[in-house]
Amino acid sequence: MKRAALLALLVFVCPLRADGPAAWVGEYQAPATRLINEATRDQFAWDRLSVLTDTIGHRLSGTPELDRAIAWAVSEMNRDGLENVHTEKVMVPHWVRGAESAEMTSPSKHAFAMLGLGGSVGTPRDGIEAAVVVLHGFEELEAHASSVRGQIVLLNVPFTNYGETSRYRRAGASRAARHGAVALLVRSIGPNGQRLPHTGELNYAADVPRIPAAAISSEDADLIERTTGRGGKVVVRLKMEAHVEPDVESANVVGELRGRERPDEIVVVGGHLDSWDVGAGATDDGGGCVVAMEALRVMKKLGLRPRRTVRVVLWTNEENGGRGGVGYRDRHRDELSKHVAMIESDNGVFRPLGFGVNGNDATRQTIAAIASLLAPIGASDVTSGGDGADIGPSVREAHIPGLSLEVDGSKYFTVHHTQADTVDKIDPAEIAKCAAAMAVMAYVLADAPARAGS
Ligand SMILES: [Zn+2]
Repeated sequence: MKRAALLALLVFVCPLRADGPAAWVGEYQAPATRLINEATRDQFAWDRLSVLTDTIGHRLSGTPELDRAIAWAVSEMNRDGLENVHTEKVMVPHWVRGAESAEMTSPSKHAFAMLGLGGSVGTPRDGIEAAVVVLHGFEELEAHASSVRGQIVLLNVPFTNYGETSRYRRAGASRAARHGAVALLVRSIGPNGQRLPHTGELNYAADVPRIPAAAISSEDADLIERTTGRGGKVVVRLKMEAHVEPDVESANVVGELRGRERPDEIVVVGGHLDSWDVGAGATDDGGGCVVAMEALRVMKKLGLRPRRTVRVVLWTNEENGGRGGVGYRDRHRDELSKHVAMIESDNGVFRPLGFGVNGNDATRQTIAAIASLLAPIGASDVTSGGDGADIGPSVREAHIPGLSLEVDGSKYFTVHHTQADTVDKIDPAEIAKCAAAMAVMAYVLADAPARAGS
């Protein structure tokens, strides 16, 4: 047996022992404590995020704000003393919202709280005015297919969880258009309250006409539902200038702390720098970018240079195209096999719980052993997951262990993709703990004697 194989065996067998984490992880107790203390000693992460969100704001692909955020990230990484700081060009879609409105014109006048869905086509200049058919899912849509022609369909499905209800936002327009609907309204994909519409991407099917689509607040959806439920007819006028312009140049931002022994082996940490064009993209995903940057900053500050390279990647265009994640995979194809792990933070930066992991049992056991070092901040849970949107293309192609920072998600979908996604929703102590979790996980994966997942 080769020495490397023996080491790997030791690494993966030890976590199975009943007496706790592998002995090798115990040796990381001291650096983990230092990383946690450094990341949580002040509110550096929150302050940095507030500068991004207050001075640049939201950052949709194709906007000057995203360009400014990219330049800002390069300069911040240089300020942190990172190495090999650079941008990697990616062409991204350029969807423009334009002016938009939706109002009830009968039985009474009432302006809805609405947001067009990302990627939607616009309406004619004078808008689309039609009666509304209220439906509660795709089965009901199919059952009432003959009644939607020439009408506006409202899919009024209460939020349960994102996976379950976001499909109405994604696929609703084309499902309704297939039966002749002229526009789609979807009840906002998020918990009720505060009359706050949520935007997000839709996907048009290739073989049906593209109809305009918008989210309306749950309160407005329920108003329509009550009115039609009483036998009334609701007429809505929808006006949207939304349109797509030619692709524009954008970039992923990359910085590194080069490994001291095996610099060609890489642990990636990252988040996405783009956001929707509402709110300030604080929770989704400015916070994820900042905690990934923090992982390297605190290592650098403490003089902790791991065996392997830790690379921070701030992806572009996660929200409406995913081109940053694909671009990273394509550009780094030759070195994907040298990627030890990829860690994405895109679930918000609330109280950290641990990590989701996509990998074999041995990988999970290694991650669990490392996560045990995060017990002081309550972030030791290891669950399945780890298939983030930006790491996904690389992780799937090269079977790289993928990790996602998992947090208390109870507040995430109240602000996600809304005007309320601002930095005040984030607690300075919680984002600092997220940074600590990212730093410890990345550092130990990059420094461990044997490579995870090998
Ligand atoms: Zn996101």
